[in-house]
Amino acid sequence: MIPAALAAVLLAVPLTRLQISTAHGVTEIPLLRLRGDGPLVSLNALALGLGATVERGDPWVTLQTAAGRFRFLAGTALVQDGVTLRGLPAVSRRRGDSLLVPLAFVAEILASATRQAWTYVAATGVLREGGGVVPIANRPSRTTTGDEQRSRLPGGLRPEHHVTIDPGHGGTDPGNPGMFFPRGMKEKDVTLSVGLLVRDELEKRGVRVMMTRRTDTLINLGQRAPKYCTGDCDLFVSIHVNSLNPRRGYQEVRGFETYFLSEARDEDAARVARMENGAQRFDNPITETKRSNDLDFMFKDLYRGEFLRGSQQAAAFIQSFLGEVHDGGNKGVKQAGFAVLNTARRPSVLIEIGYATNREDATLMTSRDGQRKLASSIAVAILAYLKEHDKEIADTALGTGP
Ligand SMILES: [Zn+2]
Repeated sequence: MIPAALAAVLLAVPLTRLQISTAHGVTEIPLLRLRGDGPLVSLNALALGLGATVERGDPWVTLQTAAGRFRFLAGTALVQDGVTLRGLPAVSRRRGDSLLVPLAFVAEILASATRQAWTYVAATGVLREGGGVVPIANRPSRTTTGDEQRSRLPGGLRPEHHVTIDPGHGGTDPGNPGMFFPRGMKEKDVTLSVGLLVRDELEKRGVRVMMTRRTDTLINLGQRAPKYCTGDCDLFVSIHVNSLNPRRGYQEVRGFETYFLSEARDEDAARVARMENGAQRFDNPITETKRSNDLDFMFKDLYRGEFLRGSQQAAAFIQSFLGEVHDGGNKGVKQAGFAVLNTARRPSVLIEIGYATNREDATLMTSRDGQRKLASSIAVAILAYLKEHDKEIADTALGTGP
């Protein structure tokens, strides 16, 4: 143990490495500092020291440890700990084939008192296997730096959050006929039921919700987003049901997917091309646009604007949280030219909550219990997005954002 006086001296000196102490020995991991963030640690190095594994995905990077599974949403300050989404004091960044995550993840989440798997001593930067009481003098210091404090996620949401929910189709437009839906039920009915449930869930948590329709009426596609999601609207969410044309095995296909679209695609692609890759990529924006349908391009393009980034983030959250309740399979975040999103001027997504041409998906989407599960996971995803969005606003205002 280190005497309190010495601990106090050590506290004043910024740590340069994390020591992981297990029965197998001690691993030292250098800490990195970028752009005024608090200390960051390489997830690959951390996994090595912990005897854990890292699974690299896009956008999620997963750390699997004996004490639990942690999924980092790369490019954001969020980590999913079991089913709970937690905020970190800084963004996790990709570097080489690893992800740099804030040391606070180790100190506050991995070594949390409730987990009892690891103990972290902030004064010495030592992470020790096993839980237990940390001597008072060595308790993790709550005196975080100003930067860390400012960029911490706020506990609650701003009261003025505003989301628009758009139940697909309506009135004379039934949407898809709903092959395995109960008699008479069409896509437009399912999207309305789920949409209203999402509204209820959000309103319960203090989010202002605008519905493009609350009844069985038809609203012009091109008017949905510009009319109902402008100005202070944080997110536009369109809800739909998928289906396939009859062909071999089509009834087996099921699952959920979320789309987003950038506005003014060609011009925007050209601008990003200029910004990211210099003139040579700008020479041929058409080729870039054609290629843009795959995920790879989409994630490279993540930073081309708040609008696109927000849409993509919201889509990723929705896919992730729907995956907790939907056993049909996560078909991923996609990009396509839906008319309803084409006219949007705010971050916008379109969710296909399942296939009406699959019996299990149809049951999930039409049963009251299934609709509740789908709606609450969509609502939680939207809340997670709004929280992240809140953080960005705070960071930007203070000039500490990226
Ligand atoms: Zn539809």
